[in-house]
Amino acid sequence: MKIATIRTSDQVIIPLQQHDGAVCSSLVSVGDTISVGQLIGDGEFRIHSSVSGEVTAISELPHPSGREVLSVVIKVHDGANVHEGASEESEPEELSTGKIRRIIRDSGIVEPNGRLTLCAKADINTIIINGTNTDDLTANAALMTNSPSEIIYGLKALMKTVGAKKAVIVIELGSAALQIMRTETIPDNNIKIIATPTYYPPGTENVLSRKFAGKKVPRGSTPEDRGVLITSVTAIRAVYDALHGTPMIKKVVTVAGAVGSPGNALVEIGAPIKHVIDECGGCSGTPVKIIMDGAVSGMAQYADEVPVIKTTTGILVQTERDINREPQTPCINCAWCVDECPIGLMPHLLYGYADSAQFDKCAELYIGDCVECGLCAYVCPSKLPLVQIIRYGKHGVAEIAAAEMEVSE
Ligand code: SF4
Ligand code: SF4
Repeated sequence: MKIATIRTSDQVIIPLQQHDGAVCSSLVSVGDTISVGQLIGDGEFRIHSSVSGEVTAISELPHPSGREVLSVVIKVHDGANVHEGASEESEPEELSTGKIRRIIRDSGIVEPNGRLTLCAKADINTIIINGTNTDDLTANAALMTNSPSEIIYGLKALMKTVGAKKAVIVIELGSAALQIMRTETIPDNNIKIIATPTYYPPGTENVLSRKFAGKKVPRGSTPEDRGVLITSVTAIRAVYDALHGTPMIKKVVTVAGAVGSPGNALVEIGAPIKHVIDECGGCSGTPVKIIMDGAVSGMAQYADEVPVIKTTTGILVQTERDINREPQTPCINCAWCVDECPIGLMPHLLYGYADSAQFDKCAELYIGDCVECGLCAYVCPSKLPLVQIIRYGKHGVAEIAAAEMEVSE
């Protein structure tokens, strides 16, 4: 599977929030000249420049989440956008645990769901890499087929860092990556490749933990509490890059739908999605919707200047014929959404409480556990925008929690 390298955009927009947490502080000012790989944002997370150029603005700009987020805008300098990295090559076993941990943290590696890859806890027994593809996005398979040894290197380094004795890479039956990864892991008894039928949603951490590590995760806990660290192919590849001197400044993104040359492309963080679509052959037909991160679980975008960020997995372009427009009607309490929710939530109640800003009720019903898979909205006969409103509810709960924390400090 080919990964296309596309031209660098003339301008990048790098949001200072690219993980599930607080906005970072900017370390640069308007007018600064910066180089590729330079640290530009710091806080509980680190953000580096994906290009060399001049900072032309630092302001609140559209973000893939639908909000406006403080972002650094960089006008790219011609011809100077190569990150050298480090030439030294050591096996993960030769590196100290502390050194690996520090490098991973400093490189700003984040999972597609926004969680930081490196857990704070040390008592991890098993690492699970989710190598399945979400919706129609194939970036995971492309990364594994193109760089299997780098994936195993990154995995071994992470295993050493957290003290994991074994690891599992979950790949769909029929994926081109399956045999390649099996061959790559033949000499290692601690890393297993598990082939699984296609299922949805594939990235639910608690489900992965139960299915592939045999550890059920009670409500309110995480797989890490049960000694299981769930990670992604993207993050593991980024660990390899970090240990070779390159922070997380690029992403393999699937560009799909109504585009001239659909496929996977290696994209600089901060590249506007319009640029990425243009580099992949442009829109074929008149686009009416651009969705980031998958048809079912992704988010429709308000602007095509929204940038690719570290959590971006795909860009889907839809024309009028791809869209099924049906009117929204009131909830009929059929409970189909409840039956489908993989987390065991009550989406119709969450929808009602979030829609009426009763965020305390949302919290009581564990709205924070929603993985935004979109299944509830998919089955809803009333065509209610369940996921969007649940996202709004999660945001409301998080704001109340942050305000309470401020008061208690
Ligand atoms: S999006 Fe809907 S179905 Fe999916 S986890 Fe959230 S509430 Fe459940
Ligand atoms: S599926 Fe839709 S109509 Fe049925 S209970 Fe859920 S929200 Fe209501």
